[in-house]
Amino acid sequence: MDAPVLKTPLPGPKAAALIARDSKFVSPSYTRDYPLVMAGGNGAVVEDVDGNLFLDCAAGIAVNSTGHSHPEVVKAHLDQAQKYLHMSGTDFYYEPQVRLAEVMAEIVPMTGGVRTFFANSGTEAVEAMVKLAKYHSKRFGIIAFLGSFHGRSMGSLSLTSSKTTQRKGFGPLVPGVYHAPYPNLYRAPAGMSPESCAQDCVDWIEQQILGHLISPDEVAAVVVESIQGEGGYIVPPIEFHQRLRELTTKHGILLACDEVQSGMGRTGKMFAIEHFGVEPDIIATAKGIASGMPLGVCAARADVMDWPPGAHASTFGGNPVSCAAALATIKLLRESLIANAAEVGTHLQAGAKALMDKHQIIGDVRGKGLMIGIELVKDRKTKERAIDARDAIVQKCFYKGLLVLGAGRNSIRLSPPLVLTKSQADAALKILDAAIGEVAGRT
Ligand code: PLP
Repeated sequence: MDAPVLKTPLPGPKAAALIARDSKFVSPSYTRDYPLVMAGGNGAVVEDVDGNLFLDCAAGIAVNSTGHSHPEVVKAHLDQAQKYLHMSGTDFYYEPQVRLAEVMAEIVPMTGGVRTFFANSGTEAVEAMVKLAKYHSKRFGIIAFLGSFHGRSMGSLSLTSSKTTQRKGFGPLVPGVYHAPYPNLYRAPAGMSPESCAQDCVDWIEQQILGHLISPDEVAAVVVESIQGEGGYIVPPIEFHQRLRELTTKHGILLACDEVQSGMGRTGKMFAIEHFGVEPDIIATAKGIASGMPLGVCAARADVMDWPPGAHASTFGGNPVSCAAALATIKLLRESLIANAAEVGTHLQAGAKALMDKHQIIGDVRGKGLMIGIELVKDRKTKERAIDARDAIVQKCFYKGLLVLGAGRNSIRLSPPLVLTKSQADAALKILDAAIGEVAGRT
């Protein structure tokens, strides 16, 4: 299916009934942008409970990497489920976890031996990354970036600085975390220019954080999203990660990449940091790794992952069914889906850029592979953020049968399953074009 098929007004009667039940019993902390109630999925198509078919450019927040219920992933899952569902890899051994650790060692961009810790989610993978960095280095400080998102458990939340609502009411957070500006070619941080912001942000760490706030020999790690996700799908200049690598190496600080959103083939390479030619010391990934089964991993250089038995563990982490789903996912990514993400991503991004000729409200289009951000502004000169219009466009897309999500304050993110075809990309662009036109008018 390319174009969506809508059979009822949205939400349909069954969807409305379920949402009414949800509103009484489910935590009100969730952010639902529109009333989609899932019934089934196939590839990049989602069916709701009323039989409406949507084109999916959200992938359950960049998770369904191989598409919804890819037969090979489902088979791997079922085969494993029939053998055993759980045995806790922290206390016992099983093949899928060992095999996945072997595969992680093959795919992470690190030279030499690699070891992997298994968790259940992105935030847990980041917690593991931070704890490991502290344990290995015997230092306490962590440097993170403004606009970043690393999760919502107390440790990772202390690094997260995407939106204040995520932090409000939960302080004080874990001490010893220092935030630096993240380079942004469209919106250079205050006092910086697009041309120099990559270097300036790294200089800022050296001069402001390491010069005034914490001695470099007390900093365990710099934790950085290779491409900033929730903050707005911001691709930093190539020199940024390279300078960061130089700075961290100079001071014996670990470079820890959060690839929870940007990893697992989404950007047209297995890990986004590969676009920058840099080797981190630790990588955290989750979301797309198991096509939707809960799994987070923290992979590190073997000499860095030197914590002793009991230092860190998780009852469910590395669940055998999730590991089996991850192995099937990685096989598909390697066989064809990373290449598809690169090819269809280039096509989709070019199409989104072409919409800039029609719609003045689009200030910037950026991304790598199928991780694409479209930033909306009230005025291209002042770059005033078009926040309400962004929200309205995301809504409009839904009512036209396209699932997209926002990122940052005023960007739309396109993070479809990596099986998206070019004709599905064209259908998505057509809907985006219409939705933007209806909200912002044509120019
Ligand atoms: N790190 C990044 C870069 C993310 O984008 C996210 C989630 O959006 C997380 C960590 C947290 O992942 P989870 O929601 O699985 O805990």
